Amino acid sequence: MTDMDEIDVLVHEVGPRDGLQATQVLMSTDAKLAWIEAIHVAGLRKIQVGSFVPPKLLPQMADSADVTRAAKKLGGFKVSVLVPNLKGAELALAAGAEELNFVMSASEEHNLKNVRKTHEQSLDDFKRIIDLTQSDAKFSDVTVSGGLATCFGCTIAGPISPETVFELTRAYVEAGADRIGIADTVGYGNPLQVKQVFSEVLDIAHDIQVGAHFHDTRGLGLANAFAAFEAGVRELDGCLGGLGGCPYAPGATGNVVTEDLVFMLESMGVRTGIDLDKLLKARVVMEKHLDGEPTHGAFAKAGVPKGFQPAGLAA
Ligand code: ZN
Repeated sequence: MTDMDEIDVLVHEVGPRDGLQATQVLMSTDAKLAWIEAIHVAGLRKIQVGSFVPPKLLPQMADSADVTRAAKKLGGFKVSVLVPNLKGAELALAAGAEELNFVMSASEEHNLKNVRKTHEQSLDDFKRIIDLTQSDAKFSDVTVSGGLATCFGCTIAGPISPETVFELTRAYVEAGADRIGIADTVGYGNPLQVKQVFSEVLDIAHDIQVGAHFHDTRGLGLANAFAAFEAGVRELDGCLGGLGGCPYAPGATGNVVTEDLVFMLESMGVRTGIDLDKLLKARVVMEKHLDGEPTHGAFAKAGVPKGFQPAGLAA
């Protein structure tokens, strides 16, 4: 099975990581797994299940190794995790993670605050992770993603020059990344910028997969996701119910809402392989365990429009 069998766009659900880490909710491992299973049943082929950061920084993610192991047993989807450094990657690999999303901020100031490293130091760490996965045949199928946070702006440094994003993308490609992840962590980007930046990033990445990650901080999340799609991106991150943010970016609100994103794509005739009714059921499973934490999304409120034909079912 490849990621793209019978679908046009791969939606990468990041709620159990990005969503949950921004809340104060300490969800049990069983509750996380019920949520992950419900998302998988809805047709998601890649789910980010946790983050291998020190538990004292993010107690919500303390059980990430257990969640990773159990998620792998469910089968049928790629188990993706976030790793901030080499140590995190070692722990994630030991737990059986299938995609490591390494993260560095395009804003060096943000990177220093987030992981206490310069770009050079982060890239050194990334190279060590590539070496580690290449040193053992049992990791040969593991995807190592070079992620760039704050690509359009940052609460510390303000706007980020596209050149910085391109330079760091080139550095990831040269280091041997299997995937590039470009994130607008705090909702600074607009659709025109997004289209321009992703066009160039896709050129630099050539045949390496490029994923786009948007936050809806200022209401442009879906418009930016569409702009990235127009530029040629075929992997988009979303978060069920728009849960999420960034603990290092004060005021940041949730990711693009997965169900709204899927509705947008399917209504344009773009196949995601995802069943919207089942996605709404997964949302109910998630909300049961959120202790009243707010969720977002227009599709869940308004429901399916009369006569709607998802792309996956079109003749
Ligand atoms: Zn994010």
